Amino acid sequence: MDGLGKVIFAGAGPGDPGLVAYKAIRNIKTADVIIYDRLVNPILLQLSKPQCELIYVGKNPDVKYKAQDEINRIINEKAALGLTVVRLKGGDPGIFGRLSEEVDSLNNKYPYEVIPGITSASAAALYSDFPLTDRAHEPHVTFSTGHLQKESVREIDFQALAKGGTLALYMGMKALPEIISVLSKDMDAHLKVAVVGNASYGYQKTVIGDLSTINDLVSAHKVTHPAMIIIGDVVNVRKGLSWYEKLPEFGVRKLIVSKDEIDKEKILEMYDQGGFYYIIDQLDDETIQNKYKSIHEEILAIHGFDEIITDSLLSIEKLEKRFNIKINPAKIKTDFSLND
Ligand code: SAH
Repeated sequence: MDGLGKVIFAGAGPGDPGLVAYKAIRNIKTADVIIYDRLVNPILLQLSKPQCELIYVGKNPDVKYKAQDEINRIINEKAALGLTVVRLKGGDPGIFGRLSEEVDSLNNKYPYEVIPGITSASAAALYSDFPLTDRAHEPHVTFSTGHLQKESVREIDFQALAKGGTLALYMGMKALPEIISVLSKDMDAHLKVAVVGNASYGYQKTVIGDLSTINDLVSAHKVTHPAMIIIGDVVNVRKGLSWYEKLPEFGVRKLIVSKDEIDKEKILEMYDQGGFYYIIDQLDDETIQNKYKSIHEEILAIHGFDEIITDSLLSIEKLEKRFNIKINPAKIKTDFSLND
């Protein structure tokens, strides 16, 4: 050890924590500081060691985005202290992840490593049961941003990108109607389009249509950000529900509550059943509670959990008191084996 800080840029994958590289998991467990974005499944942060500092640099209701300069400054400041910093980014850090800006900001002062992640396009397609390329249909796939600068669709030639292959659009929900109207100008109205919201989360929504129907379907099914738009014949490979949507707990959201410490690996395994799972444990430990306070609060605010699993009703009482909430008793399920 030379006392020099180090920065690991790691992909957090699209949502399902089972889709994170083993190497990224190992680094999350040993990091001194984790600097993370909005699109990172917060359950991953709970794998960190108790004294690891968590810094959120994503979107806030008040400030739109933390400016990139500010993020760079924080990374450098922590590395300068000789700490091991994990910069955790949604999906793959090298795909629309502003990786090079952050790497450049290190100015060769600190060593860095990069761990690739599963990008949203891959997960959205495969968790909806179609591939991104297919020998029978599509010889190429393009990843493009659908985010338009200065409300102009002209700067990206979407027609050229969609021709004869698959087009996967990131950040395209706002401009979807515009993009579809440009494509419709001289492409077949029956060209398939899939929009996949929250890919690889238990509340994933996949809507399948074509150029003529997709806008209405997206509004009708209320598919919102984050979502991938995938255009091309590969979408035809999907037949009915996907393997993922058929998992026994798909669509179910479960909160696991304990005053004691719960083995996080067990929760990660639960994700294989297709639901969304979150833990609030160590309810008497002030250090832990302070560390996760804002994360827990946000999760409790956005997710209406279907089931609350606990090892004791005392834990539920502590949860209610600490977060000033009331749990519907009908949703509580006691499971004394949680800490085995
Ligand atoms: N580096 C990321 C992309 C960041 S850009 C990656 O490799 O996936 C942010 C965009 O990614 C969002 O606007 C959305 O289009 C897409 N995205 C991220 N997570 C997603 C998810 N779980 N489901 C669908 N799209 C997602």
